[in-house]
Amino acid sequence: MCPLLENKINTLAVRAGQTRTLEHEHCDPLFLTSSFIFTDAEDAAQKFAENVPGNIYSRFTNPTVKAFESRLAALEDAPYCIATASGMSAILTLALALLRMGDRVAVSTGVFGSTVSLFTNILNRFGVESDFVPLTDFERWTTTVSAATRLLFIETPSNPLSEVGDIGALADLAHRNDCLLAVDNAYCTPALQRPLNLGADIVVHSATKYLDGQGRCVGGALVTRDRDIYDMFFKILRTAGPAMSPFNAWVFHKGLETLPLRMRAHSNNAMAVADWLEHHPAVGRVYYPGLKTHPGHRLASQQQTGFGGLVSFEVTGSRAQAWQVIDSTKLISITANLGDVKSTITHPASTTHARITEEQRAAAGIGENLVRVSVGLEDPLDVIQDLSRGLDRVKTK
Ligand SMILES: *Cc1c(COP(=O)(O)O)cnc(C)c1O
Repeated sequence: MCPLLENKINTLAVRAGQTRTLEHEHCDPLFLTSSFIFTDAEDAAQKFAENVPGNIYSRFTNPTVKAFESRLAALEDAPYCIATASGMSAILTLALALLRMGDRVAVSTGVFGSTVSLFTNILNRFGVESDFVPLTDFERWTTTVSAATRLLFIETPSNPLSEVGDIGALADLAHRNDCLLAVDNAYCTPALQRPLNLGADIVVHSATKYLDGQGRCVGGALVTRDRDIYDMFFKILRTAGPAMSPFNAWVFHKGLETLPLRMRAHSNNAMAVADWLEHHPAVGRVYYPGLKTHPGHRLASQQQTGFGGLVSFEVTGSRAQAWQVIDSTKLISITANLGDVKSTITHPASTTHARITEEQRAAAGIGENLVRVSVGLEDPLDVIQDLSRGLDRVKTK
């Protein structure tokens, strides 16, 4: 790569992973083809034997998917990336590639709900057990990791409470115990946080969120600097087939072009909304790592270059008051998705976290009065006005 491009994330977002064909197109081409032709039988045999590189079949070699992989890898400051059909299939690929019967995984509590289900209800059937550890309780991590532990899996900041985990400290702990650290970076994206530079071995993405950024496609990715890990991922991709469609790859590839710009705007808008919420009489705690009152603020300031777009807050009262705030909105979309240019609002206790028991929710700090907003790119004053419709009618005494 041209040394001038080193670490210039805006340039990488627009220019990395560019492929041009003989048509001299300016925008990146979309290769909607399931297979590729060979010049002769010998060429086919050589490519199948991996003696010469080249496209074979879009389950594991497609130039549009490759273009997205190269651009995302560049943004994460890594050489290797595997694109997958969804964020969940990225995590499944990670597990299939790295874990075997008898292994244990240490997972931070508060990871994405389907990630919890995958580790507890599916992988356990294959002899892989998981230990859940509070993200910020480092002492508990040190006592949980055992000789059987193969992988530490975290999400930082967590969702919806924005707890912040120390990536560097957990990477050291993992490496001292012959383990790998995987970080789900969907919340921050490489525009705000590069876990590999802090010591992590693998970055996991749900491209569905901010990488697309406009709520169009479902996809995921795994990024690493380790050639052996990449080869294990590729083997699963080629054999088990959790592949990203070329069309989705093209959309994500274009989405990455505006990623740094969008993440800065999401962060600025979320900061404005969080600041306003913190001063509203009908609001209790506000969970946003950009706030100085947030317990993870110092650490987030060290390992992130921005605080992201997710703001959660407690409404004075309980479910009825939280639902009133949600149902009074006219602009913000009521949907469980996040990372869109459109602001979205969710009641975690009855949606994303409804499948766990009330005691588990209480332990996780997800109360009936908690509301999560993924702050989009509308004018933040309009988002604030929309939230005030319901909040201003909440009785505070
Ligand atoms: C959405 C999400 C996932 C799962 O991704 P899908 O693309 O929906 O499969 C994993 N981790 C986090 C943090 C997410 O937000």
